[in-house]
Amino acid sequence: MDRREAILRELNLYPQWKRRDAPAPAPLAAEPDAAIKQEAPVPATAAGSMQKADIPTLAVQQHAKAEAIQAPAVTPHSDVAGLDWSALKQRVSACSACKLRAGCTQTVFGVGDEHADWLFVGEGPGADEDALGEPFVGQAGKLLDNMLIAIKLKRGNNVYIANIVKCRPPGNRNPDAEEIAACLPYLQRQIELLQPKMIVALGKVASNALLGRDATLASLRGKLHDYRGIPLIVTYHPAYLLRSPSEKAKAWQDLCVAQNKMHESEQPTEKK
Ligand code: SF4
Repeated sequence: MDRREAILRELNLYPQWKRRDAPAPAPLAAEPDAAIKQEAPVPATAAGSMQKADIPTLAVQQHAKAEAIQAPAVTPHSDVAGLDWSALKQRVSACSACKLRAGCTQTVFGVGDEHADWLFVGEGPGADEDALGEPFVGQAGKLLDNMLIAIKLKRGNNVYIANIVKCRPPGNRNPDAEEIAACLPYLQRQIELLQPKMIVALGKVASNALLGRDATLASLRGKLHDYRGIPLIVTYHPAYLLRSPSEKAKAWQDLCVAQNKMHESEQPTEKK
């Protein structure tokens, strides 16, 4: 079994999906609020001579009444606006703006390529992240790495990973609204510096914080959102997927929507 097959098996996605040849899905760029429908996996035996696919086919249904979803117009704290990467890291490292700092070992700033097109945003550090100072390590991090590899990405290479809050909430509870409000300007500044082409929000807390919502994950999935002009896709947090492996296929579906959108944006525009 090769590595790709092993990863697809872990994501509950093996046998591989088939690519549908036609018609091509409508471009997501045309509509910011699109519901997503996916074909069922095709067993290898039934696929026969069918072309093997790297990406599952997605048919995109446009909502009859589309609602453009915009991130709230939040201005970063004046004292982080204008900071470069180095100064921002130092500011986070020295931060004690909320009560989370008292209970954590260290701040967890973020990791990856500071010129990445892809930004993955989680909720906050867990015990492993708190100990190592890096987001998404341990089992959830391993699953995230495999999800990245499945769509031909790799941690640190055109990918940046960060969290909504930089300090570990005690007992791995969700950060509260006050803690999120205190810490969010750091992530906002990271996004300004990074200028990613795609944001993937992992889980309900990260999604609602970035979008300024109080919505269920189910209601946020399957739509192309907008964070200050940057496309944003909502999917499950890897820690949740470890507890609910049957949902992995949906996460794969979400990542493929993001990947398709990225491919669309990379197509050269036709000259008139
Ligand atoms: Fe500062 Fe964020 Fe840590 Fe709170 S969670 S102390 S705002 S770095």
